[in-house]
Amino acid sequence: MRRARFPLAFLPTPVHPLPRLGARIGLPGLWIKRDDLTGLAFGGNKTRKLELLVAEARHRGAHTLVTVGAAQSNHCRQTAAAAASAGLACVVVLRGAPRADRDGNLLLDHLLGAEVVWAGAEEPLVCLDQTVARLEAEGRRPFGITYGGSTALGASAYADAMAELGAQGRFDRVVVASSSGGTQAGMVAGARLHGFSGRVTGISIDEEGAALKRLVAELASGAAAVLGSASTFTSDDVEVEDGYLGGGYGIVGEAEREALGLFAREEGILLDPVYTARAAAGMIDMIRRGRIDPGERVLFWHTGGQPALFPYRAELGL
Ligand SMILES: *Cc1c(COP(=O)(O)O)cnc(C)c1O
Repeated sequence: MRRARFPLAFLPTPVHPLPRLGARIGLPGLWIKRDDLTGLAFGGNKTRKLELLVAEARHRGAHTLVTVGAAQSNHCRQTAAAAASAGLACVVVLRGAPRADRDGNLLLDHLLGAEVVWAGAEEPLVCLDQTVARLEAEGRRPFGITYGGSTALGASAYADAMAELGAQGRFDRVVVASSSGGTQAGMVAGARLHGFSGRVTGISIDEEGAALKRLVAELASGAAAVLGSASTFTSDDVEVEDGYLGGGYGIVGEAEREALGLFAREEGILLDPVYTARAAAGMIDMIRRGRIDPGERVLFWHTGGQPALFPYRAELGL
């Protein structure tokens, strides 16, 4: 498969130790990789995927990127910024009823010039298809992108990221927030293709473990194929922790609040309330239960999302 890159991210993203937090939670070998610093309109993990997806959209002669997500979707905000950077229009289909509070990512969607379509009672992916069809009929040459940019092509960006990590240090384990699966899938494929011998632990944000493992395995096989490898993956090749779903997607509980506070006050690092706080809370719990050995070198892969801190002000309890 053809694979080109439209540059959007500042790479490599930094890797550095977290000595104060590591000492506090009993994991002296704790490090972080800063994909919150990819640099595109507050950054985040979708930027790497969008480099490939935008190149593909341009190759196909698209004029408009169309994607889908929650009202506070980081993916939609990064897609809106990517479209602006590439001189394309952008339509974001957001789940649920129209919201009046233009804050966080939703504020930025508007600032970045995206057109917002509310799915209302409609299934968001159905609404995405309908929106693509409408734009096609209007001659606007749309390019549809599913949740999180998690296609085989999008995921393959995180296989590249594993090669990038390989030049930055050796780790026993990567811990990452996993939701639409593309990020973890690329890491799993990249680990094999680029000889990373550690584990890739995905902390599920909103999905039961077996289903997320199947999705990640399928996307990892697809990403490998995009990279010209015949390597395939099954659920047994994927490590997912689904014990940290809390109150469900976007619900901030005590564990997420504790993780946000620890990263902020021990290291001056901001997590986001929906993804990285949950993943960090899962990692901290695994250390406390001895499920992560205190002698391991662990890389917490920060995937961004901080613009959502502001609309979550009430849930943060500050
Ligand atoms: C989208 C997102 C994730 C999850 O990545 P997937 O590829 O959808 O699994 C994690 N963290 C943040 C901040 C995100 O926006």
